[in-house]
Amino acid sequence: MSLYVKKFGGSSVANAERVFNVANIIVEDYKKGNDVIVVVSAQGDTTDDLIAKAREINPKGASKREMDVLLTAGEQISISLLAMAIEKLGYPVISLLGWQAGFNTDSNHCIARIKNINTERMKNELDKKKIIIVAGFQGIDKYDDLTTLGRGGSDTSAVAIAAAMKADRCQIYTDVDGVYTSDPRKVKFAKKLDEITYDEMLELATLGAQVLNNRSVEMAKKHNVELEVLSSLEKKPGTIVKEKVKMEKILIRGVAKDMDVSIISVIGLKDNPGIAFKLFNALAQNKIEVDMILQSVGRDGTKDISFSVKRSESENAMRTIDSFRENLEFESIKCSNNVAKVSIVGAGMESHPGVASKMFEALYDNQINIQMISTSEIKISVIIDEKYADKALTVVHDKFFG
Ligand code: ADP
Ligand code: ASP
Ligand code: MG
Repeated sequence: MSLYVKKFGGSSVANAERVFNVANIIVEDYKKGNDVIVVVSAQGDTTDDLIAKAREINPKGASKREMDVLLTAGEQISISLLAMAIEKLGYPVISLLGWQAGFNTDSNHCIARIKNINTERMKNELDKKKIIIVAGFQGIDKYDDLTTLGRGGSDTSAVAIAAAMKADRCQIYTDVDGVYTSDPRKVKFAKKLDEITYDEMLELATLGAQVLNNRSVEMAKKHNVELEVLSSLEKKPGTIVKEKVKMEKILIRGVAKDMDVSIISVIGLKDNPGIAFKLFNALAQNKIEVDMILQSVGRDGTKDISFSVKRSESENAMRTIDSFRENLEFESIKCSNNVAKVSIVGAGMESHPGVASKMFEALYDNQINIQMISTSEIKISVIIDEKYADKALTVVHDKFFG
């Protein structure tokens, strides 16, 4: 007998027919004598719809605490419906909200981190031979307030349960049949991967491949939870995410794009020591995460510094810099939202100097201008005009995998 943790995303439970499809997948493993704990997301676009409702009330942004009260409702609907479907099929089942399943988090509303899981209730329910359906993406903080784990956070809920309950399998069911070399909905020739390492998957997820949430991969690596990403609609093997894979002679594992990017340029800064420190210290104090940084050569005693942030942070970043105007001494600031980041990821590129030029050639061949570049041992990212994002994804992909 094994313990399976299965997670189903929003599209997998979008309507009654899909809910029954998922119920059947769960029951199939339960009937074989296995324990099954299931994590579900809100149905279809429920979370987006709830966010839109909040904007109707307060377009400037409601408090994060109240957003969490609202957003946790999405998963409350899906766990109850899935439990009802399993009841109807005639199997013992119980649905649990995040707090009932023992998810304790910090108080960072809307992007809370799991501190620990009190597994007592889940263990008791398994002892009673119940199938457990847990609301993903949510927990409770030390003040008994509801919290959510950030968009796509149900993946993290599933991995956390698999780690805490020492599950034999952690299966992430979704609307594609595995992890591909690029988004299969955008890139025609994307290929399915049998295996991928935690490190490569973590980079891809962080750089925009939403098939897995990056925190879930981080947690899987930390607790050595092997993940399987597979389809809830077609019965076939998926992609295994683990520490080491059989390395084929492959330079890059995948290509990702991220539209959640803005570039901020601070123009005419004094070309003095300490300016970069003052600028980025101001941003850090306001908890604004900076990704890429570009500094121009100095001219006439001034220089420009451009950097990228998440688009949702761009206004905050502009305000922060403006409030330091006197201390920083610059001419102007500019924010550009119509940019995208395209990245290639692969542990094999480290020892192959030609990889970057191959990527740049693909962009040049298609007259796509590069605005910024950043590299690490296992990734290369470029910032380009957002209108070329899908094209860049395809041409870079096909250059390496075509
Ligand atoms: P779920 O609702 O199941 O959590 P998501 O929408 O979060 O599903 O993630 C699945 C989607 O991720 C796919 O439909 C696909 O378009 C997208 N995706 C992006 N990059 C990749 C990739 N490299 N491999 C597979 N899917 C990807
Ligand atoms: N329902 C949440 C979201 O849409 C969590 C998830 O789907 O993982 O982000
Ligand atoms: Mg998801």
